[in-house]
Amino acid sequence: MTKTQTIHCPNCGDRATRSVIDNSIKRTACESCDYLLIQCFKTGKVIEAYAPGIKSFCAINPVSA
Ligand SMILES: [Zn+2]
Repeated sequence: MTKTQTIHCPNCGDRATRSVIDNSIKRTACESCDYLLIQCFKTGKVIEAYAPGIKSFCAINPVSA
């Protein structure tokens, strides 16, 4: 079950969507600036995050430089 709400993007201030998937994953995404944040709903731990100008982060598959 997915609940979606419209929020203001924390990166660009435009409209973004916040989805809660199965009460376990929280996903915030903005189409205007490609902001993306995926968190564990219960712990708030960041699983994956991306924003323009910020190096992308992925806890599942870390990029080794
Ligand atoms: Zn944005």
